[in-house]
Amino acid sequence: MNKSVRKAVIAGNWKMNKTPAQTTALIQELAPLTKGQDGCDIVVCTPFVDLANALEATKGTNIKVGAQNVHFEAAGAFTGEISAEMLCEMGVEYVIIGHSERRQYFGETDETVNKRVKAALASGLTVILCVGEMLDERENGITNEIVAMQTKMALLGVTADQMNKVIIAYEPVWAIGTGKTATADQAEEVCAFIRSVLADLYGEEAAKTVPVQYGGSMNAGNAAELLAKENIDGGLIGGASLKPADFAKIIQAAQN
Ligand code: PEP
Repeated sequence: MNKSVRKAVIAGNWKMNKTPAQTTALIQELAPLTKGQDGCDIVVCTPFVDLANALEATKGTNIKVGAQNVHFEAAGAFTGEISAEMLCEMGVEYVIIGHSERRQYFGETDETVNKRVKAALASGLTVILCVGEMLDERENGITNEIVAMQTKMALLGVTADQMNKVIIAYEPVWAIGTGKTATADQAEEVCAFIRSVLADLYGEEAAKTVPVQYGGSMNAGNAAELLAKENIDGGLIGGASLKPADFAKIIQAAQN
């Protein structure tokens, strides 16, 4: 099975939640629960101001730290922005790019996503690239067109070698933070389709090695069924990642 060549990645997207002190406390509660759970990579993506505390609290654990965005320029007059070099120097290893909340509320486009992806990869960060359709797009039968376009635009200029630092997160927008989860079959169908897009871009062999996560109201109750699917290699988890016991159950479900 191809799934066995990929390690699942369970990543928490904390969104705009938790102060630095709360970050330390959450990770101190989570870390003992993830001990020995090495069958998947575990990542927490915190707000920028929490990264230092997250890096300190995760020392000596199997939890890695990610940011939720990165600017595409290296430095300069970009008030309020954070560069890839700044993240790397801190010890941050992952970054979420193109989350639908950034596309919806902060003017993120396929073009800016692509620039961020290239800047992040050039600095050595591992990218969690989010793609996914809106409800009306699904209802109009254009889910595949949307995710193919988002994936191809985001990866313009990214080489096959760089793909070993790319994780794709399939996140149907209608399932994020809504409590509505795609069924395991719906999620599998789109994740498999995304892999076929990667195969068109980079060849079958490369496509087999890229983790494709599902995200959208994944929780302790539904994770096992989703993660058992052949093309679902982990999850990007919002709400449930803020509850250590629930996040740990999802990590447990990803061990096989
Ligand atoms: C997310 O923020 O990427 C997400 C999937 O959120 P939730 O799990 O809360 O739907």
